[in-house]
Amino acid sequence: MMALCLKQVFNKDKTFRPRKKFEPGTQRFELYKKAQASLKSGLDLRAVVQLPPGESINDWIAVHVVDFFNRINLIYGTMSEYCTEKSCPIMSGGLKYEYRWQDDNKYKKPTKLSAPQYMCMLMDWIEMLINNEDIFPTRIGVPFPKQFQQVCTKILTRLFRVFVHVYIHHFDSIINMGAEAHVNTCYKHFYYFIREFSLVDHRELEPLKEMTERICH
Ligand SMILES: [Zn+2]
Repeated sequence: MMALCLKQVFNKDKTFRPRKKFEPGTQRFELYKKAQASLKSGLDLRAVVQLPPGESINDWIAVHVVDFFNRINLIYGTMSEYCTEKSCPIMSGGLKYEYRWQDDNKYKKPTKLSAPQYMCMLMDWIEMLINNEDIFPTRIGVPFPKQFQQVCTKILTRLFRVFVHVYIHHFDSIINMGAEAHVNTCYKHFYYFIREFSLVDHRELEPLKEMTERICH
């Protein structure tokens, strides 16, 4: 019953934008299926994130970055009607943390944006990166670029901020939608993954430190 409700909450029509898919038949699709299968098997999430023997670390990271982008994007998409210019004129995590947007295009200097604007820039920016063959190569035999893990660190650091904002500012909406368990599971999976490979600086994790200690034991 619970699963059915969640399916209705997280249905495709509410997706914020098209999700990135792995092409069936590719090695990364197989790896994605493997990761999904162990996730569904009810294994400890801390064990699920570990690199399977014989797999390449960059492939493993690539699969997870794309999957987390899809899932976090979907979570924000379902919250987005509550996250408006009016409710969230600044992209923040409580009073203590404020995030500014910077990219190589319009915002060369760190710029204050509203939360919905920030999220929109963030999701577009990630989508552009994961669809860039020079950074996320999908063809067999094409190696990952030298800066691959650095780019992924940046993506995951920024995705973490979506959790910060949603948990701190929209927790009541999560509860009202009956989505708490779903969001927590996604958060835990994400948290164990970034810790396993030291992908996000611990200072970035500060805003959710207490909650993390409570749910990730
Ligand atoms: Zn908001």
